[in-house]
Amino acid sequence: MIRKFFRYFLEQKVLTAETVTKLQLIPHKKHNIARDQINSCALKIATELQQAGYSAFIVGGAVRDLLLDLKPKDFDIATNATPEEVRTIFRRSRIIGRRFQLVHVTCGSVIVEVSTFRGPLPSDTSGAENTIKHTDPHGRLLHDNVFGSQEEDAIRRDFTINALFYDPTSEKIFDFLNGFNDIKEKKLRIIGSPERRYREDPVRMLRAVRLAAKLNMQLDPATAAPIGDLAPLLQNVPPARLFDEMLKLLFSGHALACVIDLRARGLHHGLLPMLDMILEQPLGERFITLALKNTDQRIQQNKPVSPGFLFASLLWHEILTAWKRHLTTEKKLMPALHMAIDEILTIQHKKLAIPRRFDVVIKEIWTMQPRFETRSGTKPFRLLTNPRFRAAYDFMLLRCESGELDKNIGEWWKAFVNADAEKRKAMLVKNGEQIKRRKRRNRRKATSTDLTSARTMTGAEK
Ligand code: ATP
Ligand code: MG
Repeated sequence: MIRKFFRYFLEQKVLTAETVTKLQLIPHKKHNIARDQINSCALKIATELQQAGYSAFIVGGAVRDLLLDLKPKDFDIATNATPEEVRTIFRRSRIIGRRFQLVHVTCGSVIVEVSTFRGPLPSDTSGAENTIKHTDPHGRLLHDNVFGSQEEDAIRRDFTINALFYDPTSEKIFDFLNGFNDIKEKKLRIIGSPERRYREDPVRMLRAVRLAAKLNMQLDPATAAPIGDLAPLLQNVPPARLFDEMLKLLFSGHALACVIDLRARGLHHGLLPMLDMILEQPLGERFITLALKNTDQRIQQNKPVSPGFLFASLLWHEILTAWKRHLTTEKKLMPALHMAIDEILTIQHKKLAIPRRFDVVIKEIWTMQPRFETRSGTKPFRLLTNPRFRAAYDFMLLRCESGELDKNIGEWWKAFVNADAEKRKAMLVKNGEQIKRRKRRNRRKATSTDLTSARTMTGAEK
């Protein structure tokens, strides 16, 4: 017993006060990852690094996904070669990043990320002159370019399941933190002290939610515990980084589950301002739920998805509310809509930093919506030829499905889109008839909160 106890301590290394490592080498017969499951470029790069005398492993998400029988999104390599050394081995490579320097090696049309093992940062000695500050006042890491050993690199990763190294030569997995077992037990466990790790990089809280949903795993209780209290730290993350992580989350194929979990953990504040409020309105909640479900299905069926479309959906009920408000002072429909759009996008740019490159798509989808209500004259034909028709049309159908827009409008457009030229002409509603119909509809909907009633209230349609 005592011998066993001493052997336990001899085999385990305590690298930091809080993290215990024990290297387990997992042979091929236990993990079953075949070499031909590794992307050929990544395989080639790892082998060349090894031939040059360095150690090199496939690391992180790819090893994890292969163990879970999922298709990896990308194959990353970790090595003990410095970025400059990697750079000299591969002609088609360049060093990128400042906070976290790594090398992009291009092979055919594929780019493989090669990162040098990271080590622990020296602790900040505040007050001393000429010291480089490694963290901001909340504990967030400002840079991470101190190199270290493979073991130290494992500790600096986020979750145990993301800290597995696959050696393509020996076909062994190097596991310092029991990640292999956590994968089998479907347990998502952060490495080290959860609070310190979230303070270092608050984005890890979003990654926890995303990976748990994507991999169908449970957050370990200690990993989950500090999230509610530390959620406000996300406000200090540079908006571009937050945006990247939000995109990954929204396009993970499990966006609905992620958003529900974000909300349950109080992480949604500040990501999309007022998302909480939107989700509490029955119409907004239904619309966002449908939009997220639709995105998830498209991703699971390998269909293309557009961030512009999704952002337009997430913010649509914000627009409706602002539009109604502006219609009380600005009686004309379209100028009031443009005022609402400017107002909501300005808030977004400040908070989540939806990059301006998406504005054009988002605005077009929104400003085309009133045009679906005209089913007479030449306007429906012109709308059909708009390059953004398909996205705006899908958006309009979602509005119908959520109950915000009259279902008949959606049905009419579905038939119109599928009809031939002759039939389309015959479908057009006569002008007088359209106004009569609209008035009838407005009377029926006098109590509803949708835009039709906003127009009736203000008389803006006249
Ligand atoms: P996926 O690619 O499926 O989104 P991933 O885990 O591969 O998931 P990446 O962003 O590609 O995510 O990161 C690659 C690896 O880098 C991770 O597996 C993890 O080991 C490490 N990593 C990524 N982000 C962090 C972080 N914020 N803190 C610590 N380690 C991280
Ligand atoms: Mg990855």
